[in-house]
Amino acid sequence: MPRAAFLKRIKTFDINEHNHCIDDDDIVRLKVDSCAICGSDIRIFNKGNERLTYPAIIGHEISGIVSESNVDGFKKGDRLSLGADIPCGKCHKCINGTPNLCNDNLAIGYQLQGGFAEYINIDRRVFDFGPVVKIPDELDIEAAALGEPLACAINGVEKLNVKTHSRIMIIGGGPIGIMLGYLCKKLKKAARIDYVEISDYKRDFIKGLNISDNTYNYNDFISKINKYKRSYDYVFTACSVFDTHQLGISLLDNGGSINFFGGLPNPAPSIELITNDLHYKEMTLTGSHGSTPRQHSEAIKMITKDSAFFLSLITDRFPLDNINEAFEIASRGESIKILIKP
Ligand SMILES: [Zn+2]
Ligand SMILES: [Zn+2]
Repeated sequence: MPRAAFLKRIKTFDINEHNHCIDDDDIVRLKVDSCAICGSDIRIFNKGNERLTYPAIIGHEISGIVSESNVDGFKKGDRLSLGADIPCGKCHKCINGTPNLCNDNLAIGYQLQGGFAEYINIDRRVFDFGPVVKIPDELDIEAAALGEPLACAINGVEKLNVKTHSRIMIIGGGPIGIMLGYLCKKLKKAARIDYVEISDYKRDFIKGLNISDNTYNYNDFISKINKYKRSYDYVFTACSVFDTHQLGISLLDNGGSINFFGGLPNPAPSIELITNDLHYKEMTLTGSHGSTPRQHSEAIKMITKDSAFFLSLITDRFPLDNINEAFEIASRGESIKILIKP
């Protein structure tokens, strides 16, 4: 009998048998090769999430191999990369190219079964409207599990309409912060990319990647904050820390834009906003949530072109049986991307 990791309550996965056979609605059964731990999974593990009902199978950064299929165009042995957001495909937001904002959006690893399992069944709605990409022959299947986070990073960079020669601050140096920096450097030719990060491990890791100019310790940066205020064109908050939202706004120069990328645990507090800053300094505040199937396809193309970079972000691999340990390490910030290998 196949097995899955069931989140029973906060900070506890149990590995149990998962009897979920292919039926009329389930059109493809995927043997999960890799499911990466996302920052949002870490938040769910530690704080819970109202979109889940326990016991829940979470995980949405998935690559795997088709083991059964009753849909045209997909056969046993095909390798697939999946994303999280499954829109309705019919409302005006879906039709207008923003299916990640669909009010009827379901997500893999939330309302739908996630990837911390040996098998996942993919139903018609996922194939019709969701992010499902065949992995090119030349692409490593582990790197293809990073399609979802890179697609979300592409969405974040698109929201800021980043121009060349700009000064960029990324608050949070985890995998998303790294991917945002990568996109700003490679695609947008930013003049300067700086990071603020609290973890020594992550700062050292970023310094080895050749994407950053300055990598500041969070506490040192805050102690000299007056030196850095109003000195960036674009700021991303790539973490789940409330204080970074007000901090990020204070770093924006005239005409600057911020993207609140990382969600906060609920209930999220409010910040003080001086709207004259938006008026006189023409600042823009944006957020981004999830990604679209188009962005997922783009992400897989980008990973295929530079797979060595993306594989280098995978710092740890754990079998399903050790998923609690994997989440504890991820929660301590002593990793970049962790793959669960069911
Ligand atoms: Zn994710
Ligand atoms: Zn919709």
